[in-house]
Amino acid sequence: MRLNPVFLLSATDVAHFPSDAKTFGAPEVAFLGRSNVGKSSLINSLLGSKQAHTSSTPGRTRAINFFALYEGAKTQPALIFADLPGYGYAKISKSISSEWPQFIEPYLTERETLALGICLVDTNIPPQASDTQLITFFKQMQRPYLVVGTKADRLSNNALAKSVAALKKAHEVDELLPVSAKTDAGTKALWQRLMEVVI
Ligand code: GDP
Repeated sequence: MRLNPVFLLSATDVAHFPSDAKTFGAPEVAFLGRSNVGKSSLINSLLGSKQAHTSSTPGRTRAINFFALYEGAKTQPALIFADLPGYGYAKISKSISSEWPQFIEPYLTERETLALGICLVDTNIPPQASDTQLITFFKQMQRPYLVVGTKADRLSNNALAKSVAALKKAHEVDELLPVSAKTDAGTKALWQRLMEVVI
């Protein structure tokens, strides 16, 4: 199914989250990960257009950016994408950023239409404590999540299998879906998982 993306709004406060008047209560998929994990590239590759321009668009970087995805000419979106701010960037913070308690946590705990959290982890680097923290948060909240490994094209099959095994072990998850925004490997499988939340 081909979905047409439309940028909805950039929220910097809980009060800005789009209401049902805008989303028609459509299920929402949230994308989360450390800065530089490849989140914008993956969202762009899933949407087949440059929607997630976070790093180059001032004001959008530290916000939650919402996109509505429409099927054909329908007026109600089938799905909402929420692009959350990257966390845990090198020197600024050892783990999750200061926005976490004020902003990201309320989103994850209170957003009723949140149907799936995509927790992005980089397959090219060792398991990160901040990623474990996020995944643990999803487990504790009992919210559905899927761990997705980015930049899979950079590794040989053998190295990728080893990395996936190490990440699964460290984050204590049974499943990790490797993808590449560069080659599109794994993005079809990811779309299948995303479409499962569409009623
Ligand atoms: P964000 O900060 O999480 O939004 O990350 P970006 O999407 O801006 O990507 C960070 C860097 O990783 C950029 O230099 C991208 O070109 C690179 N990158 C992202 N995805 C991939 C991928 O699938 N394969 C490769 N080889 N590089 C990638």
